[in-house]
Amino acid sequence: MWDVLVIGGGPAGVVAAMRAGDLGARTALVTEGEFGGMAANDGPVPVRTLAHAARLLRDARQIGRYGIQVDEPRLDYSQLLERVREVVREVRSHSTFRSQTDSAGVQVHENAGMARFADPHTVVTASGLTLKSDKFILCPGGTSRRLSVPGADLTATHSDAWGLSSVPPSIIVIGGGATGAQVASVFNAFGAKIQLFQSGPRILPTEDEDVSAAVATAFRESGIDVRENFGTIDSFEKTPAGIRMNFSRNGTPESTEATLAVVAIGWVANTSELELSKAGVEINARGFISVDEYLRTSAANVFAAGDVTGRLMLVPQAIQDGFVAATNAVRGAEMKLLDQPAPIGSFTDPEYAQVGLTESRAREKHDIATARLDFDSTTRTIIDGRTAGFCKLIVDRTTRKILGCHVVGERAVEITQLAAVAMTGNLRVDDLAQVPLSFPTYAGILGRVAGMLARQLNLNLDWQGNRA
Ligand SMILES: Cc1cc2nc3c(=O)[nH]c(=O)nc-3n(C[C@H](O)[C@H](O)[C@H](O)COP(=O)(O)OP(=O)(O)OC[C@H]3O[C@@H](n4cnc5c(N)ncnc54)[C@H](O)[C@@H]3O)c2cc1C
Repeated sequence: MWDVLVIGGGPAGVVAAMRAGDLGARTALVTEGEFGGMAANDGPVPVRTLAHAARLLRDARQIGRYGIQVDEPRLDYSQLLERVREVVREVRSHSTFRSQTDSAGVQVHENAGMARFADPHTVVTASGLTLKSDKFILCPGGTSRRLSVPGADLTATHSDAWGLSSVPPSIIVIGGGATGAQVASVFNAFGAKIQLFQSGPRILPTEDEDVSAAVATAFRESGIDVRENFGTIDSFEKTPAGIRMNFSRNGTPESTEATLAVVAIGWVANTSELELSKAGVEINARGFISVDEYLRTSAANVFAAGDVTGRLMLVPQAIQDGFVAATNAVRGAEMKLLDQPAPIGSFTDPEYAQVGLTESRAREKHDIATARLDFDSTTRTIIDGRTAGFCKLIVDRTTRKILGCHVVGERAVEITQLAAVAMTGNLRVDDLAQVPLSFPTYAGILGRVAGMLARQLNLNLDWQGNRA
């Protein structure tokens, strides 16, 4: 009998197991596949590697502007996929998580197949293990939501797209959120003809409106056919060259064809195999496991962490969840989830990122001031030939606190990390403006926007703010 059994070996599960072990609980972790979960094997690591290759292609095309002569770059996709596999192996072998989990005394069962509850204290796995435990922490993550229209089985998910042996000539991408935008951007860079279908009025609907608009414009300029408000999908059919999507808009039937259709319309929790009812664990209307702020489920001995709870589905949040859930599972409910600024970004081309409130959300509750600096007027972006994009900062006029930061363009994700630190440290915008950030840097752009706001608000600065 274990004190704590963790189900799922992604970032949430690994940190939960490590923390439970560190707190002295006799802990086991069981996971269907490889240690590391989606983050290492099918999510950020492989996707970033492909996105990096897309950047290298772009940079290689720019190199002539700097007087360096090279031939037009050509992509060998199978060699790139070998590099992706190599990176995944390398990241895994250099990860300290495995040794830390071992040193915490956790017994790890990898490649155990799907685990399911047999009763409130017993879990069995497809590989034939039977594990009994006092407490459980459920970290099974999620998978791509599928469409339920005729012919949906002919479509692919982002995982299938990464696994292709060659770049398809054309791709229909359904869903203009973070995953769909990444698939569209990466394969566009690799030479596929992309149609990006978004059911709502704008792609990246959870981003600030300015960000959605700028990325949509940049996508169009790079050759992606962006189709917002496209209507509803009726069916898919096989064609000699690939797939046809039939859809209707305001009652008018339309269709389009491509070699491949990739569906990226959201995420569903991996709960169907767990037989949660045998443990008394309830799911919410969205299909995710219901948890409170201590990550307790409806069953007193069961906690849940990571994507399966359906909140911000990102690695840093999964890691925090794992820590909180394990602390509460071992010590009793004592640690609440932190409500803190969470930077979110994506490595599309152009890159985009955010932290805090969008401008429209901020206006609902605050008297705000905003400033926006376009990348065509900042020194570093001009040096690097990366003048597309902007940095926008939103502050509360009364408290001068930073409410949100939204960036499109080179190093957008890195710039918002700095804004997140400023927000977490409760810096006022004039405090941020007076940090002598290095010149000429991308971080310095944020300092300069802070300086613009301080000036707009007539705040006295000890000096005249940054140059970037
Ligand atoms: C294309 C893509 C790109 C992404 N990019 C980023 C990014 O740039 N930055 C970022 O922070 N996040 C990114 N994410 C999200 C990130 O990968 C997830 O938020 C994170 O992996 C969630 O961790 P987790 O531990 O909750 O679940 P997972 O990493 O999904 O791990 C869950 C594990 O549990 C196993 N499992 C499931 N059911 C069972 C069962 N019944 N029994 C046993 N084992 C089971 C699964 O096989 C899996 O190994 C991306 C995701 C995708 C799809």
